[in-house]
Amino acid sequence: MSMNIVIMGPAGSGKGTLSNFITKEYGIVHLSTGDILREAVASKSELGKLAQSYLDAGNLVPNNVVNKLMKEKLESEACKKGYLLDGFPRTLNQAEALNKITEEIKSPITVVINLTIDLNLLIKRITGRRICRNCGEIYNIEFNPSQVAGVCDRCGGKLYQRSDDTAESLETRLDAYHKETIPAIDYYRDHDLVVDIDAAKSIAENMEAIKSILEKYNDHD
Ligand code: AMP
Repeated sequence: MSMNIVIMGPAGSGKGTLSNFITKEYGIVHLSTGDILREAVASKSELGKLAQSYLDAGNLVPNNVVNKLMKEKLESEACKKGYLLDGFPRTLNQAEALNKITEEIKSPITVVINLTIDLNLLIKRITGRRICRNCGEIYNIEFNPSQVAGVCDRCGGKLYQRSDDTAESLETRLDAYHKETIPAIDYYRDHDLVVDIDAAKSIAENMEAIKSILEKYNDHD
């Protein structure tokens, strides 16, 4: 059976970094709604034009737009080998829509990894975050700096700061997380799918914790 993972957690909890690790380690498709939407904005597609103002303000893009987008992605052949959803679902409406989609494609969610973290640490992680424009590797100027400031260790690409990684936008994003995303996590708790991870630990420790969780699920298959 394929391994289908949902990773949840507020902005700055390490979702993107851990997702990159998991998808490489297990060879499954990485579907990040944030990345897909940012690419759409950069390419000025219809979706991008619609999504831009929401992203800039840190507001959630409407459910019907995101649900349709993810349905198309999840129906693709590549997802049959397993997938990781990073940033989706983010609302109860999206969790219910995803449930319908996974029933249709006969590929249910195996586990929901939920990253929990203290607010003060989140703010440091977000404001220090830098991302490689070329390969997507994620750094933090305080916790996980590149060897040469502004340059990616892996590919030499230029590092940038996301335009929504500002204190103002972060407040809106955290607000949306508490109001909209916690109910989606509770939905999965009711279905006994959630494993909590203490995201305040180091990236290496969390990678180990996630590995042992996923190995367990592999064994059960
Ligand atoms: P992220 O990279 O996951 O932090 O997402 C960046 C931004 O993309 C969010 O602040 C939202 O504006 C938008 N976004 C990402 N995923 C979703 C989603 N599942 N539903 C609605 N908006 C989303």
